[in-house]
Amino acid sequence: MLSEDSSLLQVKGIGEKSVKLYQKLGLYTVGDLLQYFPKGYERFEAPKKMDSLISGETCAVLGRVLNVPVMRKTNRLTILTVNVRDDAGSLSLVFFNMAFLTKVLKPGMVFVFRGLVQTRGISLIMEQPKFYSPEEYHKLTGLLMPRYALTKGLTHQAIQKAVQNAWKDYAVEEEYLPKELLSRAGLPEIEPALREIHFPQDEASALLARRRLVFDEFFAFLLQLRRNKDLSAQIPNEWPMIETADTVRYVDALPFRLTKGQKQAWAEIREDLEGPLCMNRLVQGDVGSGKTIVAFLALLMTVANGYQGALMAPTEVLAVQHYETLLRDVKKYSLAFRPVLLVGSMTAKEKREAYEKIASGEANLIIGTHALIQEKVQYHKLALVVTDEQHRFGVRQRETLADKGLRPHVLVMSATPIPRTLAIILYGDLKISLIKEMPVGRLPIKNCVVNSSYRPKAYKFIADQVAKGHQAYVICPQVEEGEMEDAENVVDYAEKLRAALPPGIVVAHLHGKMKASDKNRIMEDFAAKNIDVLVSTTVIEVGINVPNSTVMMVENAERFGLAQLHQLRGRVGRGEAQSYCIFISTNESKETMRRLEILNTSNDGFFVASEDLRLRGPGDLFGIRQSGEFAFRIGDVYADAELLKQTSEIVDDLMKTDHELALPEHRAMREHFDRVNAKAVDFRTI
Ligand code: ADP
Ligand code: MG
Repeated sequence: MLSEDSSLLQVKGIGEKSVKLYQKLGLYTVGDLLQYFPKGYERFEAPKKMDSLISGETCAVLGRVLNVPVMRKTNRLTILTVNVRDDAGSLSLVFFNMAFLTKVLKPGMVFVFRGLVQTRGISLIMEQPKFYSPEEYHKLTGLLMPRYALTKGLTHQAIQKAVQNAWKDYAVEEEYLPKELLSRAGLPEIEPALREIHFPQDEASALLARRRLVFDEFFAFLLQLRRNKDLSAQIPNEWPMIETADTVRYVDALPFRLTKGQKQAWAEIREDLEGPLCMNRLVQGDVGSGKTIVAFLALLMTVANGYQGALMAPTEVLAVQHYETLLRDVKKYSLAFRPVLLVGSMTAKEKREAYEKIASGEANLIIGTHALIQEKVQYHKLALVVTDEQHRFGVRQRETLADKGLRPHVLVMSATPIPRTLAIILYGDLKISLIKEMPVGRLPIKNCVVNSSYRPKAYKFIADQVAKGHQAYVICPQVEEGEMEDAENVVDYAEKLRAALPPGIVVAHLHGKMKASDKNRIMEDFAAKNIDVLVSTTVIEVGINVPNSTVMMVENAERFGLAQLHQLRGRVGRGEAQSYCIFISTNESKETMRRLEILNTSNDGFFVASEDLRLRGPGDLFGIRQSGEFAFRIGDVYADAELLKQTSEIVDDLMKTDHELALPEHRAMREHFDRVNAKAVDFRTI
């Protein structure tokens, strides 16, 4: 029998070789595998008539082969073209490196072809379709096939098989949620939920299964949050501060005036730091609203009072960027910071030196990633912790710090636009400062949503911007070929782009699977203008500030949630030059275009996120990439807002009636979620 902690090697069909591939996906145990939920499902629909096909849609057609396949060779590819027709129209099929098909697809034969419909010139084609005999396809019709996030070497079928094999020998945990809770929230039991998410009978049961799993995820999070709330409520200010001349001097010396919102946030923070209680504050402001300077001011006040401050970022790239920005300001304005950097990619020796400086108080500002709260770090007088762009991280970190006997002030910076009702649930007892306006002098970003035929124009546009001394980002949804079907990948794309752009333009690529030190180096090179065009995954979604970049081009924009696209857009328009966003969608269906159009009409993060929610149907719950800050595995704070509210009410009621979950009927639940929360890693290791 397999249990949650059994190694994947014990699953039939997974050997020494394939286990490495699963590890690449972050899967080590049977529990990990069963919690690796599909991103969506593919349905084998009945074949469509050829006069009703839409570019961007994956579908099946029943067609008769019209001609002997025509073969064409380029230096790397053998391209095969064949025409098929039904009683309504015809279609061209294109195959790559499959010369043997000339012997299979013979004129007059009938097959079902299934694939992505695309536009070529004025006609429609299907590239690399799969094909079936009509009888074979008939058997598949109506089935939902799970689609997982892949890595090169693993197919959907392989993962599906592994899940199936694991499931057969797996003893699912007994139901831990009380019966009346299940019925109150309208949830299925855990066993059918886990089964149906991987092997759904139909869409309705997949959605119901998803509801249960999302509930569990929100529940675990909120339970921890509510308990922390008690932990942090009304703690006296152990680090009282007074305002010194340092911050006033800094503000006066800046090359710009603080906006109204920045001033207000800074005043509220100052009041907290001087006040009787420990600060617990969130600064919420859209991307580019200038949150960093507010954090720097709070940290400066802290060190000027003789204490230590820490600034934590979700990624190393972002931590390094903060460190560099700060070093520049320290020199320029002779600020009282003695900063030290602490990130995972530093050598053991460098880390040891940093630890010593932190423990002795020689360093009064520590900038880094989650390495900052690891056990080895001993602080001298840690009075303020600022967490940038990662709220979930913030919640957990407070607990970790408290465990070490530390009770610093906590400041969280967030660009995730969420409505107030949700903020109250997700941010718990944090007080909120809002920065509403953008710094003056910013030109609104110009946006366009286009199909892939626009690409050559976009490249020309990028080349022109580079010629003017600016830089550009290009975002692709996947790292390497094979993670997703029909989506652009960073590695190959950078290669293609290099060939398409004029020589002399420096193109580099960046993705989350690269070594941290390589990522840092590339970001530094980009910031130093040694790189003109950066092809990247959403690693750069969070916080990166290179004001000289004026173009953000996103490939397969339809795969992203609007909130995330908005975050990506926030990487440009940070300087005085006019900036542009180009969203390329390979799916031209009406709904997709309408959704993306919202980006076209608004540069306001709140508006974009709420419209996204309004326009999504239940089927869209799967498969759209969400914004990272709340990094729930399956839940989505926007799309599942109602369930989040309901979960929050249930948790609140539980806290009232049985705060410790000590009642016998709550024991199984407590044990389950304690285990889940102990395992949870709340920071993204991108
Ligand atoms: P975010 O809120 O997304 O973290 P940043 O703090 O990175 O934004 O600020 C974006 C850019 O705006 C930075 O280059 C910063 O120096 C600049 N900036 C911040 N505040 C102002 C202001 N009041 N006026 C002009 N520029 C500002
Ligand atoms: Mg920022």
